[in-house]
Amino acid sequence: HQDRLFNFAAGPATLPEKVLLKAQSELYNWRGSGMSVMEMSHRGKEFLSIIQKAESDLRTLLNISDDYSVLFLQGGATTQFAAIPLNLVSPSDTVDFIVTGSWSDKAFKEAQKYSKPSTIWSGKSEKYTKIPSFHDLEQNPDAKFLHICANETIHGVEYKDYPSPKNGLLVADMSSNFCSKPVDVSKFGLIYAGAQKNVGPSGVTIVIIKKDLIGNAQEITPVMLDYKIHADNNSLYNTPPCYGIYMCGLVFEDLLDQGGLVEVEKKNEKKAEILYNAIDGSNGFYRCPVEKSVRSLMNVPFTLEKSELEAEFIKEAAKENMVQLKGHRSVGGMRASIYNAMPLAGVEKLVAFMKDFQARNA
Ligand code: PMP
Repeated sequence: HQDRLFNFAAGPATLPEKVLLKAQSELYNWRGSGMSVMEMSHRGKEFLSIIQKAESDLRTLLNISDDYSVLFLQGGATTQFAAIPLNLVSPSDTVDFIVTGSWSDKAFKEAQKYSKPSTIWSGKSEKYTKIPSFHDLEQNPDAKFLHICANETIHGVEYKDYPSPKNGLLVADMSSNFCSKPVDVSKFGLIYAGAQKNVGPSGVTIVIIKKDLIGNAQEITPVMLDYKIHADNNSLYNTPPCYGIYMCGLVFEDLLDQGGLVEVEKKNEKKAEILYNAIDGSNGFYRCPVEKSVRSLMNVPFTLEKSELEAEFIKEAAKENMVQLKGHRSVGGMRASIYNAMPLAGVEKLVAFMKDFQARNA
């Protein structure tokens, strides 16, 4: 589609073309129901079929067992920064955080309001370019959970395997690598993710939580943040983000059609490989600050040795229909987000442009 840009935004982000066209074809009159998904009762049989299919497809994709609830919530991952301590611990409980970038730091700060978090490792002094090695980590002996951010969207560091906490449960923010590869859900007490990077539009937040953790929320927990309320009501306690859930459902179907997350991961590895190779093979013209072993397959930050050319790089790329390549305002440089829905052709085009830009400016 010539009128579509290659959108390298970190989120909201590019969605699969097939999914958008399917949504378009169903927008006006969803499957003969005489109305759009936006207009339906969230308690009618049509929408119930949509949310149930979305949940069951997500369960298939991630191989989620019946020991876990899957919740479709609102408020973004940011709301979960508060909901997690409110639901899982009491105000005097100790919880551990590994801080690998801006997002885990935000989660840590919010948890200070509802628990006693401590940062057991921080990558701040190394500008968030690393993930710690797990056997060196000293956890608090009475920690109730260990919180990690599986993929730092701004800094581009991603866990390649997960720590097994000695103390407490493992809790992970997977906002920016959700459904990008297979995950052993059984290792986690709770996984959460905003939808707007890999699986849908903003407005839907997915929580996968072990059922036996539900039902112990602090007294002050707002009803909208109480997992028990949402679990008991199958995510329909109040009006859910119906259209967003429908879109997530279409994305889950598409991921299954592609052969599931094993196949999706292979494509993501290929895309990331050609982009990192272009950076590393540029004789220092481009540079990625992240330690090689933990480079994200989803968010690729890079800088130009001649940093004065960065604005020109971004401008020229946009002229060639590659947009949203500017790095986060907190770190500068460039960032290419290459989520599931970014086609290989988009990354190939970016790499060709990078080589050409270097040839003209080296
Ligand atoms: N965690 C991560 C890893 C993120 O990338 C983001 C959003 N960029 C958030 C949390 C916050 O998500 P939201 O904007 O949905 O609240």
